[in-house]
Amino acid sequence: MKTIGLLGGMSWESTLSYYKSINEGVKEKLGGLNSAKICMYSVNFEEIEKLQHSGHWDETARILSDAAVSVEKGGADFILICTNTMHKIAPEIEANINIPILHIADATAEKLLESGIKKVGLLGTNFTMEQDFYKGRLTEKFGIEVVVPEKHDRLKVHEIIYQELCRGEIKDDSRTVYTQIIDKLRNQGADAVILGCTEIALLVQQQHTIVPLFDTTAIHAEAAVRLATNKD
Ligand code: GLU
Repeated sequence: MKTIGLLGGMSWESTLSYYKSINEGVKEKLGGLNSAKICMYSVNFEEIEKLQHSGHWDETARILSDAAVSVEKGGADFILICTNTMHKIAPEIEANINIPILHIADATAEKLLESGIKKVGLLGTNFTMEQDFYKGRLTEKFGIEVVVPEKHDRLKVHEIIYQELCRGEIKDDSRTVYTQIIDKLRNQGADAVILGCTEIALLVQQQHTIVPLFDTTAIHAEAAVRLATNKD
């Protein structure tokens, strides 16, 4: 079995989901007492969040590259960046290590294409919804059309992520906000919606909406398990 490298702590609330689902996936595939071989570096999210919002992405790249180097030295065969947003600096991290990064947008796109979805809504941080590192990859590499909420709704989605979900606060009112925005994305022509932030599935699950949801945390973890165990 390969060793999975995790860059976690962004936030730790969602890293917990990764740890659980990767181990459950290995157990399901291999049975017995099999569990995942994981080497993780969990960062201080307060530090990362401040750098993100002040635009110091080069500094976040330095912190995460150092973390990735440690994880590689710890024996990881490949790395997962356990957040959609920080894939913005995936190329910088990649340039500093000799093992591959399993890209969250690639894993998600493959899953969407398997389900025949060509036009999708995207929820995530403002960085993910507005910039090109994520949407652009889905469109240019996989031919998937991406729609995002309008500005006011994007702000609400972003705020709930940082003010509540990353702090472990799950509120019914916020779930209603999200499901209403998901409905609007459907009205904009989306066949499904990507939960493109690793904490969103803590708030909204498939039972809360009829619109098909693609949870990036679960998809990313599942892809890691396949790669680590070499079993589909
Ligand atoms: N975990 C979130 C994501 O998947 C947001 C936290 C972060 O900014 O890294 O984008």
